[in-house]
Amino acid sequence: MSPSSDPANLKSAICNLKSASGAVILAHNYQIPAIYGVADFLGDSLELARQAEKVRARLIVFCGVRFMAETAKLVNPGARVVLAAPDAGCEMADMISSDALVARKRELGDVTTVAYVNTPADVKAESDICCTSANAVQVVNALPRDRSILFVPDRHLAAYVARATGRPLLDNSELRSAKSELTGSEFGVRSSAFGIVPWEGFCYVHATLRAADVERARREHPGAFVIVHPECPLETIDAADAVASTSGMIRLAHEHSEIVLGTEAGMCDRIRRELPQVTCWPLRRTTLCRNMKLTRLEDVRAALAGEVPDIAIPEDVATRARRALDRMMVVST
Ligand code: SF4
Repeated sequence: MSPSSDPANLKSAICNLKSASGAVILAHNYQIPAIYGVADFLGDSLELARQAEKVRARLIVFCGVRFMAETAKLVNPGARVVLAAPDAGCEMADMISSDALVARKRELGDVTTVAYVNTPADVKAESDICCTSANAVQVVNALPRDRSILFVPDRHLAAYVARATGRPLLDNSELRSAKSELTGSEFGVRSSAFGIVPWEGFCYVHATLRAADVERARREHPGAFVIVHPECPLETIDAADAVASTSGMIRLAHEHSEIVLGTEAGMCDRIRRELPQVTCWPLRRTTLCRNMKLTRLEDVRAALAGEVPDIAIPEDVATRARRALDRMMVVST
């Protein structure tokens, strides 16, 4: 190991660069433990967006994926924001584009568009309001019930939110039959089945977690409390004891001595760090997000040293995307 790649030397270099640049390091719960050790704040998307909004740092180094760094830039436009691993994208966020969203909205007529934060900035700009997995139910409950909702891009989160808010989930055949009786412009406002129209995206990490995994975990860890993420399919949610965002998982972990988590497997590292007295098992050990695992200490050092390009969002896009995020922040306070 060369001196420059020794973890202790890297941590010390990061510490020095951070003080010199007035930076703050924000890291998502799914990052590797070495990154936890240099982060100023750890959290889920909503917690990190709130931190990004209120920090007074000149530079925010984000350890996560691109849409999260974009969100930090949107809520704190005065700060320089860099994504420590610039290639860290999100497969779910890449399943939608602003052009495709505009075309779908035109097809559906008068709908309210709710964008999960796991979307690019230009998709947020075409949406009415944003949500995270922690506040999606609250956001949808705050919307009028006499209008359909286009929920993008996660079809599993859409299904969970539809059920939790008592709104019908409209599949394409129901949409076609309702539309056949109405003109395109009337559809959104006159359909008798106002509900949630899902985009067909998904998270490849959570979508593969199934009810059979929960049943196996119960056999292997009888007595453990099973919590799954709302990006999982409904059958997985129904088989579990609770459904929660990653911040909700930490809150629930305080109440149990042994838990199983149906989410990115690294979340157990976060629980072990926060609550060493709790025994934590991943629902499936191989459930890892390759993009979340890209960031290394070397990347953080390079980001602090100015070797990584800033996150830049065109002002017209940023203004409209910020409006959708601001509406979420108001609803979820
Ligand atoms: S865990 Fe899923 S939603 Fe989160 S960054 Fe990875 S691919 Fe995207």
